[in-house]
Amino acid sequence: MTSVPNRPLLHQGGQPPLSVEQLQHWKDSITADPYRSYLYSYPHKTAYRELQPPLPLETLWRDEPAESFFLYMHIPFCGARCGFCNLFTLPDKRADVHARYVDALERQARQWSAFTGHKPYARFAIGGGTPTLLAADQLRRLFTIATGVMGLDPAAASISVETSPETITAEKLGILQEHTVDRVSMGIQSFVAAESAAIYRPQNPDEVYRALELLGRYDFPILNLDLIYGLPGQTVDSWLYSLEQALTYEPEEIFLYPLYTREHTIVKPEDIGRQDDIRMDCYNAARQVLAARGYQQYSMRRFAKPAAGTDKAILDYSCQEEGMVGLGCGARSYTRNVHYASRYGVSRKATESIIADYVATEYYNTADYGIMLSLDEQKRRFILKAILHSEGLQLSDYSGRFGTLLLDDFPELSLLLRSGLGREIDGVLHLTGEGLGYSDSIGDWFISGEVREQMERFVLP
Ligand code: SF4
Repeated sequence: MTSVPNRPLLHQGGQPPLSVEQLQHWKDSITADPYRSYLYSYPHKTAYRELQPPLPLETLWRDEPAESFFLYMHIPFCGARCGFCNLFTLPDKRADVHARYVDALERQARQWSAFTGHKPYARFAIGGGTPTLLAADQLRRLFTIATGVMGLDPAAASISVETSPETITAEKLGILQEHTVDRVSMGIQSFVAAESAAIYRPQNPDEVYRALELLGRYDFPILNLDLIYGLPGQTVDSWLYSLEQALTYEPEEIFLYPLYTREHTIVKPEDIGRQDDIRMDCYNAARQVLAARGYQQYSMRRFAKPAAGTDKAILDYSCQEEGMVGLGCGARSYTRNVHYASRYGVSRKATESIIADYVATEYYNTADYGIMLSLDEQKRRFILKAILHSEGLQLSDYSGRFGTLLLDDFPELSLLLRSGLGREIDGVLHLTGEGLGYSDSIGDWFISGEVREQMERFVLP
């Protein structure tokens, strides 16, 4: 712990006061455009660049202070690309392509285990893409790599796997259960066939019901379902219909995503620009429904039953996600001051070539593409990861970690308090219920000028 000056933790800094009009102007700038960017992780991958010289992973991980690590495996394959998706994934169902990819992932794991094996894993997640698109034997192999090569102790780590309705089978769910998976997450997006078709995700609701019924036969501690609001042709009523359908299956957790479109996604911004923007109405209506059903809101997107969890005695981990060991092409890895990954792309041509390079690689022992986080960026990340969740930012944690006071470093954060989008209770800075609804524009406002410039200069291959 660094020593902290003996002053109130939320010191107001030396900024001249803003007028009521200036404050209102700032708030209007946040609320006018709530969905300008989704801060899934900070800094975003589009701020990554070639690291010159490449950084040896051995040193990077040896010096990582996190007590335990998070093991992540990325499976960058899907049956088709959804119209809103800008994740690193390739529509490719060929089993031989998948098998060669898992071979490469195993080779990478064998090399990385020497760098990261000195700390235990508190979490393990397999995401993508669609991990359950893999054949059963390849899916099983991922667990063998996690435990046999990386040294994961499944009894001490929470384990999460992403699935989709059309790819789950009794055999694959049996494998997940056998490997003590705690959380199964399924992307549904909508129970209305026309809405799914409008986002290029042709999905028969009967397929979804079949998958949910099958999942119900297994005893996973947490079932998470993902839904999207603001889809082309959707109304608040049809949105609530999908939500009600999902709730029938009593998921322990539910993620509600506003629809985002970009120039490079299949559904273009102009495709939804033609209809009224119902996203904030959908969000508010869903919050009410979920609160009445006993779900607690943990972030703008995440709602869960308070008692949801696993019986395992899981190792402690920090919510800051440092110490993330990302295996596979498209996975990010986070140490305290270096974030790195393979290159980013969305088009078929780009993802295909990046995956081909990954599969052909013999040595995975350097980080050659990523971003080094300055102290300022580490602080911003720490703040953003905390305030965009309902638990909020414990001010003493901030001061303990950085040895400075929050508002001395970032006086602009007082705008949150003065505008009513945030509040401080017992030494914790939270967004209010209203503020949580603007998480994405608040996140976008708080990113540094340097990262914004990098992101804006990024040319998508
Ligand atoms: S949203 Fe999920 S299922 Fe759809 S293309 Fe992206 S990764 Fe695949």
